[in-house]
Amino acid sequence: MTNGIKELKLILDSASAHKIKYSENEPLSVHSSFKIGGNADLFAIPNNTDELKFLIRCAAETDVPVFILGHGSNILFDDGGYKGLIISTEGMNSVKVEGNIMTAECGALLTRCAVLAKDASLSGMECLYGIPGSVGGAVFMNAGAYGGEMKDIVRSSTYLDLDTLEICTIEADEHDFAYRHSVFTEKNAVILSTVMELVPSDISLITERMNDYKKRRIEKQPLDYPSAGSTFKRYPGKYTAQMIDEAGLKGYTIGGAQVSEKHAGFVINKGNATSKDVLELIDTIKKKIKCLHGIDIETEVIYVK
Ligand SMILES: Cc1cc2nc3c(=O)[nH]c(=O)nc-3n(C[C@H](O)[C@H](O)[C@H](O)COP(=O)(O)OP(=O)(O)OC[C@H]3O[C@@H](n4cnc5c(N)ncnc54)[C@H](O)[C@@H]3O)c2cc1C
Repeated sequence: MTNGIKELKLILDSASAHKIKYSENEPLSVHSSFKIGGNADLFAIPNNTDELKFLIRCAAETDVPVFILGHGSNILFDDGGYKGLIISTEGMNSVKVEGNIMTAECGALLTRCAVLAKDASLSGMECLYGIPGSVGGAVFMNAGAYGGEMKDIVRSSTYLDLDTLEICTIEADEHDFAYRHSVFTEKNAVILSTVMELVPSDISLITERMNDYKKRRIEKQPLDYPSAGSTFKRYPGKYTAQMIDEAGLKGYTIGGAQVSEKHAGFVINKGNATSKDVLELIDTIKKKIKCLHGIDIETEVIYVK
């Protein structure tokens, strides 16, 4: 344990104003849909912005690196774990619906939001139903499926600037949304909450669409195995999964990591996969695609070390 971590622990233990839930040597495999990863030195779950700010300030004072974790569904944690503080947003998860406007805190799960929207007869989130991430994680990378993306419904986001500790709000057009990209992928910030504008619609039609998307996910995706969803980003004009399939890589295995036989776009954890197995498999796939098509495919999954 570094001196910084020891100091940070002391501060957190003695802080009377903020009794923040945290743990030491937290196994990160539990917090990742890939079920891979060593331990984090410290793992904290703030319940509100004040607690989050306090953690950020204390980590900065003690020189402890920080990583912001949503629901861990797009992350590959290293086998060696994380030397620093992981801040999980799961405790900041309130959702409010007023008229056709939904305001969700960063840690609220997308699927829960989609169900709440449906219950309020509001359309716009059906395509996001089944994406196993949080609102913060979804805004961060403009999550989307079946022709819809976060950019279609986001009206504004409020975030904590981690350099200045100021709270700022940006409007829809300032998000710089693009395919799996938002302004936050280049900002040192924590998205605190997001306002989404939905459209009143018939609840039975919304339900029908949600059930259809769920059925398609079950049919096409290897949901029986841990993964982080699509391993690679789409390459302009090409279907990455199809290229991997045509390269004969379906079922290709390194250690416990395998190119899913059901969907070549997913690397799955067949059991006891390590981050090393996954990284080697990703590298093999990239090299093969480069060799066959002369293009560099980009990883969508975020590797955290
Ligand atoms: C089975 C399966 C199916 C999937 N299907 C889809 C799909 O159809 N479409 C799709 O787009 N994705 C899909 N994904 C990937 C994943 O669910 C999305 O990328 C999701 O948006 C990630 O959200 P998260 O909360 O899990 O983020 P995490 O994985 O925890 O984090 C991802 C990134 O977001 C950052 N982040 C998270 N919260 C915040 C915040 N509040 N402020 C600032 N940064 C933050 C993290 O630091 C990290 O860099 C799938 C994943 C799985 C496992």
